[in-house]
Amino acid sequence: LVRLRSRLSRSQNALGKGLLTLLSRDRLDEDTWEEIEDTLLTADIGVAPTQELVERLRTRVKVLGTRSPDELRGLLRDELVELIGADTDRSLHTAKQEDGRPAVLLVVGVNGVGKTTTSGKLGRVLVADGRTVVLGAADTFRAAAADQLQTWGERVGARTVRGPEGGDPASVAFDAVKEAIAEGADTVLIDTAGRLHTKTGLMDELGKVKRVVEKHGPVNEVLLVLDATTGQNGLVQARVFAEVVDITGIVLTKLDGTAKGGIVVAVQRELGVPVKLIGLGEGADDLAPFEPGAFVDALIG
Ligand code: GDP
Repeated sequence: LVRLRSRLSRSQNALGKGLLTLLSRDRLDEDTWEEIEDTLLTADIGVAPTQELVERLRTRVKVLGTRSPDELRGLLRDELVELIGADTDRSLHTAKQEDGRPAVLLVVGVNGVGKTTTSGKLGRVLVADGRTVVLGAADTFRAAAADQLQTWGERVGARTVRGPEGGDPASVAFDAVKEAIAEGADTVLIDTAGRLHTKTGLMDELGKVKRVVEKHGPVNEVLLVLDATTGQNGLVQARVFAEVVDITGIVLTKLDGTAKGGIVVAVQRELGVPVKLIGLGEGADDLAPFEPGAFVDALIG
């Protein structure tokens, strides 16, 4: 939690401290509630969720007649956790399937959001957990992408399957799963390409990667990686990807570099899919499961 707190310090200062300060004013008048609303909007929580949250807080503060800082903090915490979804299933399917085939995870998203880094970090978590992991370098368009993934693989103890530069991404993905099955590996992480400038091209390509991989059996997770610093832009991207493939989980990266942690709420609403993992830095250990309670505690201090 201490680590999470220090990594989220920008959001914490902007959102958590701001809200607590406002709530602790002598008088919670109309202006103060408006400022609370503005603070939530600035953190990219989104208009509708912000209004809901403020409404609920107002009602509860009124009903309880509470003014003690601890109680106000408690109310704010409860409401934020509720808004994010305390009971949502955020588990990742990474264990071998019943028939002994490896779990297959596709990592998708536009260039630069942190797909390769996330694949590497996730590989590390799984290897540390005793799993055998195969990385599939299906981003064959960006010259350095496969090298970057392979470097991660060597670092974390996972083998990387790659194809010729400019080759067919779907065939690399197919081979990665094939080899993982042959080796009896537990998990395959497939890093895909993310050139969004040609939407149709991306659709065709990503759809094809998924279909080809499914010749081996079902894909367990399609993780959409979004860069938290891009705010509303990320939501537009998310929509485009959701049209192409069924997203099963969101990875929100670069939360360490933004004051807009509220995007967690907005993106879940947008896609109806939970945030499962968060990226908190560039290092190998900077990937964490997303836990609403811990996240909110880190935010509001
Ligand atoms: P890709 O094009 O989607 O595969 O993106 P990369 O994995 O190459 O990442 C792009 C850049 O973002 C790299 O410089 C990463 O080190 C950086 N990055 C990825 N995740 C995070 C994160 O959680 N926090 C920060 N600060 N940087 C990150």
